[in-house]
Amino acid sequence: MLPYRGRFAPSPTGPLHMGSLVAAMASYLDARAHAGIWLLRIEDLDFERSVKGADREIIQSLQRCGMQWDEEIIWQSARTIHYQDALDKLKPWVFPCACSRKEIADSRVRMGLSNAQIYPGTCRNGIQNGVTAKAFRLRVPDGKASEIHFHDRLLGFQWQDLSAEVGDFVLKRADGFWAYQLGVVVDDAEQRITHIVRGSDLLDSTARQIYLQSLLGYSTPFYLHIPVVNNADGEKLSKQTGALAFDKGSKDLLNDALCPAAEFLNLRLSTKPTSITQFWEYATDAWKQKFFTDQGQSRPQ
Ligand code: GLU
Repeated sequence: MLPYRGRFAPSPTGPLHMGSLVAAMASYLDARAHAGIWLLRIEDLDFERSVKGADREIIQSLQRCGMQWDEEIIWQSARTIHYQDALDKLKPWVFPCACSRKEIADSRVRMGLSNAQIYPGTCRNGIQNGVTAKAFRLRVPDGKASEIHFHDRLLGFQWQDLSAEVGDFVLKRADGFWAYQLGVVVDDAEQRITHIVRGSDLLDSTARQIYLQSLLGYSTPFYLHIPVVNNADGEKLSKQTGALAFDKGSKDLLNDALCPAAEFLNLRLSTKPTSITQFWEYATDAWKQKFFTDQGQSRPQ
């Protein structure tokens, strides 16, 4: 078994809210429970969504919570050369695409297909003369090869048919930005990540990432997708749904943020912690009880 390496990979679109604290906590506890390495990676590939200074705020919030990363932080915006390398390696499966979102949705309606998100294959066999390519897409396989299976440590057996449920997906966007799917796969591999613990809002991306890993010759990490925190209207907490910074105005992060986040993760702490250091000790023990057998193996719940 490779030495454990985990990570938290926030997009700096705003300060950390309670939902992102829960994701950071889960990945941190899993790394601590495995006596492994935990890394912080800032996923700032989308310059338009990134908010200036949000990366600093995220770093400070994690530090105030007593979370420590074991190697230097990396910023994806400084690593575009690696994504270009990966795109070059993927050349046999990549094609330029000139479709706009609207054209994709319209052509699906014309074809009588229900899900407007799935790429209908318009530019698969070349783009029309005189039309400029906007994005680069990865051709997903047809038939059996398009079925991706994986085991999630919490949710168990997972399955997605890439061709039917996703379609040829974008690696480099029409606006010139590198797509999340490519950045995350390249960096998880380069950082030798063995265990990914993140919110279940990303479960739907995992099959695409596993497929990319297979084409690039990378190994597939273990996955654990935790429930996402919703607001009172049942929407995922996010900047768009108006989520506030979890540490805004708090003078007692232990009781205002850390204990509630552990409660959300259903961790039963043996004793009420009186300090942040104690919190991490007790929460790590509680995490081990929830996710490990006596042999130290991760088990599905
Ligand atoms: N950057 C992604 C986000 O903030 C998370 C990426 C991941 O954990 O794979 O939603």
